[in-house]
Amino acid sequence: MALNSTATTPPTALPYLDGDVPLAQFPTSDRLPVRNPADHRELVGTVALGTAEQVDRALDLAVAAAPGWAALTAAGRAELLRAAADALDRQDTAARAMLLTREHGKVLWESTLDVGGAAAILRYYAGLAAEFDAEVDHRNAVGTARFRRRPLGVTAVIVPWNYPVYLASLMLVPALLAGNPVVVKPSEVAPLALTETLRTLAAALPAGVVTVVPGTGPVVGATLTSDRRVRAVLFTGSTATGRTIMASAAPTLKRLGLELGGNDPALVLESAVVDDRLVDELVRGTFTSSGQVCYSVKRIYAHRSRYRELVAAYLDAANALVVGDGRDPETTIGPLTTRSQYDRVRALVADARQRGAQVTTIGRRGATARWECGNFLLPTVVTDAPHDAALVAEEQFGPAIPILPFDTDDEAVALANGTDYGLAASVWTADPAHADVVARRIEAGSVFVNAHRLGASDLAMPFGGAKQSGIGRRHGFVAVEECSELQTIAHIADPAGLPGPATPTRPGRQAPPGRKEQ
Ligand code: NAD
Repeated sequence: MALNSTATTPPTALPYLDGDVPLAQFPTSDRLPVRNPADHRELVGTVALGTAEQVDRALDLAVAAAPGWAALTAAGRAELLRAAADALDRQDTAARAMLLTREHGKVLWESTLDVGGAAAILRYYAGLAAEFDAEVDHRNAVGTARFRRRPLGVTAVIVPWNYPVYLASLMLVPALLAGNPVVVKPSEVAPLALTETLRTLAAALPAGVVTVVPGTGPVVGATLTSDRRVRAVLFTGSTATGRTIMASAAPTLKRLGLELGGNDPALVLESAVVDDRLVDELVRGTFTSSGQVCYSVKRIYAHRSRYRELVAAYLDAANALVVGDGRDPETTIGPLTTRSQYDRVRALVADARQRGAQVTTIGRRGATARWECGNFLLPTVVTDAPHDAALVAEEQFGPAIPILPFDTDDEAVALANGTDYGLAASVWTADPAHADVVARRIEAGSVFVNAHRLGASDLAMPFGGAKQSGIGRRHGFVAVEECSELQTIAHIADPAGLPGPATPTRPGRQAPPGRKEQ
């Protein structure tokens, strides 16, 4: 396979504000390069650095589009969402997946899942339109009322780099179904495949319903989250940025949906059977996408009776991983997407080693990987780390995993919960009843049993963070509910039945001057 076949592709001028004015017209000094993390010499494209003025323009377009979009029924909007899915199917998914692998580093099957998510999510939410349109009738002593859902208004969607198309769609599509126009800010790290996807999606919808403003968090992101025309912010990213956004949105009391970081524990219980299936699943849950999945396994705790057996089997299974260029079919995990993540994960491992931990590096380098030119890290297993080592206590978001023993379920639960995070967790056991008892004690939005990886949470399963891992839920109708609010329309037929003294009887009304009394 010629891995550098695309290395000479000219920078792609993709970013897009509306149908008429591509941001590609901006001067080149206003653009950032997007480089391949598997080979920094390869320029994949460039991303325009949007300004506060461009956000202002995008918001004007969104405000103008809002009444027309809200006036449709959800069923009407769903028809357009399905048409957008069809348009995406006609777009070259393989080309977008390749673009994503080149800008992000992940292996091709994952990129295909990521970009393919947009059409799947559009169709899934289109299928929930009737639930949105359903109105509830209420009758009481004084009249009748209807409860209905209405949109919140212009919504900002702020996207991370790790699953850019899929995660953007999980925020964007429920907001659209609920009748909100959306302004999307892609991550400056991996904006290209998402922007290509949104270009097609936006073109299938009325003008202004979806606009994209590329750029940095402190400029484009901060302008969106503070502008009073924005009624809601849907954000996926780090907990630190989530806090900044919450503060920025506070003066205008925006609705917030925050999907943030996690430090997901996997608890291998005394009742577990450490067989190949368990170990393979645990390895996949840890290292897929080089550990850069929001709910990757980030800490493993094994009952002391299973600990040695588990560590040996885990090292053996993870040793089969091949780290390399995501375009090479031999590769099982790609590079880290950013150099700063690469530096951080190495520093966390070095710190744990310095504090007495055993560090074992496993797996092998892919034959085609240009090791010196990319952010490649071999899988790393760390044992005997102190519980308060940063590698254990913080979100590493990379291919280095601590494994630690515990003695009782109480201790395992305390370790799992001993963090401000609470995104997901898993319990591993051959005893479903034991799984349930432990799972119910874990402070996390999702607890998986005997698997902990992509796909374990499907589109219908509410997903989100407990504690500082987030506010609100994605997936399912709950995500649409959070992009809308209830309105009560009450017809008071008999005000005399309302509380308070009876309305005083007034003397007979006088006829207006010049009008004859009937
Ligand atoms: P990040 O917080 O650095 O950036 C996310 C987005 O926020 C980017 O588009 C960035 O430009 C923007 N941003 C940065 N500063 C901003 C500001 N002041 N105002 C507005 N926007 C701003 O996160 P990341 O590095 O892109 O993603 C990795 C993190 O995301 C990890 O912590 C991971 O756990 C988390 N994540 C969580 C989930 C989930 O579902 N809970 C999913 C994916 C990723």
